[in-house]
Amino acid sequence: MKIKFHGARGSVPVSGPDFAGYGGHTTCLELVSDAWQIVVDAGSGFQNVRLLEDRPVILLFSHFHHDHIQGLAFNPDLLGQNREFFVSSALCDSNTLKGHLQNYFHGAYFPIDLIEAKDRFIFADFETLPASVGSALSIMSSPLNHPGGCVAYSIGEGAERVCTLFDNEYQVEQESRLLDFVDGAGLFIWDGMFTDEELQNRRGWGHSSIEEGMQFFAASRSAKMAIIHHAPSRTDNQLASLQDQLCEPQAFFAREQQVITL
Ligand SMILES: [Zn+2]
Ligand SMILES: [Zn+2]
Repeated sequence: MKIKFHGARGSVPVSGPDFAGYGGHTTCLELVSDAWQIVVDAGSGFQNVRLLEDRPVILLFSHFHHDHIQGLAFNPDLLGQNREFFVSSALCDSNTLKGHLQNYFHGAYFPIDLIEAKDRFIFADFETLPASVGSALSIMSSPLNHPGGCVAYSIGEGAERVCTLFDNEYQVEQESRLLDFVDGAGLFIWDGMFTDEELQNRRGWGHSSIEEGMQFFAASRSAKMAIIHHAPSRTDNQLASLQDQLCEPQAFFAREQQVITL
């Protein structure tokens, strides 16, 4: 399985020389196996995902905050290809999902009715995905702690598995459930919006700290941890400095366009 980070920034896209290394696009993750392509969240990085034509494509949403859906309308393949795309989320049923996206891309906020214009979206209930896509897909979800709700995903094929744990404000009560959830995964992806110090004044904002991620990684039996949802103010130099302090080569701040192969 191949994992590519198309957006590793949180909250709002940023640009400029201070952000060129880790990238400025908001959350978008592409997972590709021989049997399917799954895109987790459509932040602004979604515009750079090339949608494959030779296998089922699933657009999967962890939740519906701006930074996770704002790029949906801007992928040229999505509107250019005359084919069907599955759209799903474990956070809600398919009708609610369709309603959320229709609201976001309503004519008051966006020039075309994206959902009607793209009539080949198949809004699928999360539970139906393996049956729709094929037995090569193993997929599970688990609730996260985030204002408005959010879900973690465990996505795999055979022995290869990756887990997404964003967006999430970590709580010790989650520890055993989430450790079980990521157990044995080749990679899990952590919401590291804040440092411990910053988190003191950001309780209730729905995000975890980098240090909490390191502690969770140390307790886990997962091979690698990628940290994303970098704060918009966090420069390349600051991220590189924090990376030096992690002292753990298997835990890293994800960079836009970075590819991990399991
Ligand atoms: Zn977010
Ligand atoms: Zn969020």
